[in-house]
Amino acid sequence: MADGDCLFCRIAAGELPAKVVYSDDEVMAFRDVAPRAPIHVLVIPRRHLVSVMDLRDEDTPLLGRIFAVIREVARQESIAQSGFRVVSNAGRDGGQTVDHLHFHVFGGRFMTWPPG
Ligand code: 5GP
Ligand code: ZN
Repeated sequence: MADGDCLFCRIAAGELPAKVVYSDDEVMAFRDVAPRAPIHVLVIPRRHLVSVMDLRDEDTPLLGRIFAVIREVARQESIAQSGFRVVSNAGRDGGQTVDHLHFHVFGGRFMTWPPG
């Protein structure tokens, strides 16, 4: 898929608005437009990758940065102590609806288990 056709590439490029909570040269975090919890932030690589299945060994530093941002978001949103959930849906059975790798960060309420 060309970058211009991808929703999250367009958000990363600043072509579509988003409530950005973190941004650097490789990683962005913004609030989900339809929050499923009091805190619901999406953390994405700026580079277009469809899902975790697109990650390669050389992307290990990128994943490290993504998880550093997840920790930073958890601190900023005051859910680091109370706890939170990180989810990356992949493919049809995973319930992925936007085909640009993203990590949901849910918090601010107790998360039930198992997921639906
Ligand atoms: P998925 O279902 O692929 O795991 O997650 C996609 C998420 O993107 C959903 O939670 C959905 O609410 C969110 N989303 C879809 N379109 C937009 C948008 O234009 N802006 C923002 N901020 N979130 C979006
Ligand atoms: Zn994309």
